[in-house]
Amino acid sequence: MYRTHTNGELRLSHAGQTVTLAGWVQTVRKFGSITFVDLRDRYGITQLLFGEELNKELESQPLGREFVIQVSGAVSERTNKNPNIPTGDIEILVSNFTILNKSAVPPFTIQDDTDGGDDLRMKYRYLDLRRNAVRKNLELRYAVNRAARNYLHNQGFMDIETPFLIKSTPEGARDFVVPSRMNPGQFYALPQSPQTFKQLLMVSGYDRYYQIVKCFRDEDLRADRQPEFTQIDCEMAFVEQEDILNMFEGLVKTIFKDVKHIDYTETVQRMTWEEAMWTYGNDKPDIRFGMQLCNLKFPGHTFPGRKNIAELINGADFKVFDEAETVIAIAAPGCSEYTRKQTDELTEWVKRPQIGMKGLVFIKCNADGSFKSSADKFYSEEKLKAIAEATGAKAGDLVLILAGAEERTRKATSELRLELGKRLGFRKDDEFKLLWVLDFPLFEYDEEGNRWVARHHPFTSPKPSDIDTMISNDPSIPNAAEYLKHPYAGIRANAYDMVLNGNEIGGGSIRIYQRELQEKMFAALGMDEEEQQHKFGFLLGAFEYGAPPHGGIAFGFDRLCSILGGSESIRDFIAFPKNNSGRDVMLDAPAAIDNKQFDELQIRLDLKGE
Ligand code: ASP
Repeated sequence: MYRTHTNGELRLSHAGQTVTLAGWVQTVRKFGSITFVDLRDRYGITQLLFGEELNKELESQPLGREFVIQVSGAVSERTNKNPNIPTGDIEILVSNFTILNKSAVPPFTIQDDTDGGDDLRMKYRYLDLRRNAVRKNLELRYAVNRAARNYLHNQGFMDIETPFLIKSTPEGARDFVVPSRMNPGQFYALPQSPQTFKQLLMVSGYDRYYQIVKCFRDEDLRADRQPEFTQIDCEMAFVEQEDILNMFEGLVKTIFKDVKHIDYTETVQRMTWEEAMWTYGNDKPDIRFGMQLCNLKFPGHTFPGRKNIAELINGADFKVFDEAETVIAIAAPGCSEYTRKQTDELTEWVKRPQIGMKGLVFIKCNADGSFKSSADKFYSEEKLKAIAEATGAKAGDLVLILAGAEERTRKATSELRLELGKRLGFRKDDEFKLLWVLDFPLFEYDEEGNRWVARHHPFTSPKPSDIDTMISNDPSIPNAAEYLKHPYAGIRANAYDMVLNGNEIGGGSIRIYQRELQEKMFAALGMDEEEQQHKFGFLLGAFEYGAPPHGGIAFGFDRLCSILGGSESIRDFIAFPKNNSGRDVMLDAPAAIDNKQFDELQIRLDLKGE
């Protein structure tokens, strides 16, 4: 037997027992004729005491960091207790030890605050995974996995595996492709999600399906994306949107409870996509704090029916506002005493290329009731007061105003709000706020491809009230130019996103389940009959054999874990992640393959652009 206990297990109550432990040497500390060793495994650390006699043996067989050893000895009460670790009351008086395996000096210290940089840690990820902090993240991931499985199982969901070697599934990204040796010149695609399979399972009658499953998307990797990532993927038949929202609120609340011991009893807020864009400038608003957008001026077609309050800023000859398509303000609570240096810094912040604004206008709502602004020259104090009041600012607040083109300004204001929210301490890691964003637009215009694309995916159904518009319109979709002018008034989808603290953690939709409507949708996306048949003949075919009404959702499992773990990066919660260029630096993948493999595939490599 290699061990009787783990290194996290022994307490004062074990004193006097003889035990055998095994693990990795964390530290070796020599004090004259005795030596202390901290022995580590995934359960904790136990202090070992090598007395005088064994100390001599240690001289001929010295222990080094990360050596794997086995020791036997008596559990004994420590004189110098360590209250910071659960085993801190005891130590083992080692009677004999065996070096099971030596270790080279590790390239970084295996400690919470390691001296290893990111690249080094990823290259030696198997060592990095020994660190407490990383292990805790994987434990949290496993806890989320278990909570989700338990909940879904209890609700009657069945875990059904779907294939990885498939034909393209459109989720808006590029496919990874795999050449087929048995079918030379032909390729499989790796699934961007199991979308069409889960819908087929509904047609087959498995009316509650789930899978914790890998998805593959060949995207340019922004900071927090991985080419392969994991979803909690779910689908249900005979449901309406309301059923889905309830079921999956339940899932997330259960995860909160089981993993974080949080009783999320409050009702999950709901907001339409239009409301989210209007009040937060963002379709995944962080509602842990207010600071909502005050839309002073915006082009009439973007939010039909909303009131323009441009009279507050018009007529002052202030070109910055007069010439802008959109002017939006937010009020930062308690910031009226910001110094020139601080406001200059904020101005520089919005001018950064990622934000892309030309400048920032301020109104200080002083505690004494006076108003001071960087646009004093153009606005009377009375006007400044009116603008500030429109934003909901109170005495002591600082109003920040951005002006420019609609889309950019809205996005920039949203970013500024989030940044200030962070700086002002309104975005706390331990506070969780869920939100459903509903009624997304069904389509969006892809400027690059000069065509309409499905905003979610082409299997999402339009709102029943909007189906007629869609069907009656020529399937080449309204008139692109016309529609573009009314992006917010277009056809809405039966689609929903779940948002947690400003992150989209899940998204789904009620699906189309009639062949005729699905064909219309494909046509609207510019697919002629032949292409429809070629790409989705199987699905259209299935819809002819009794497809039930159905809908579903998929949660970004890695992201959910990272938010629950209070980290910005999903990589911290993936055992073997890829770096920002999609490389596995430990395996050194992707890599070239042998000529023999090319021969078998009957492929000749002829890289373009080399
Ligand atoms: N397959 C979709 C996605 O990956 C989720 C869904 O509609 O259920 O985003």
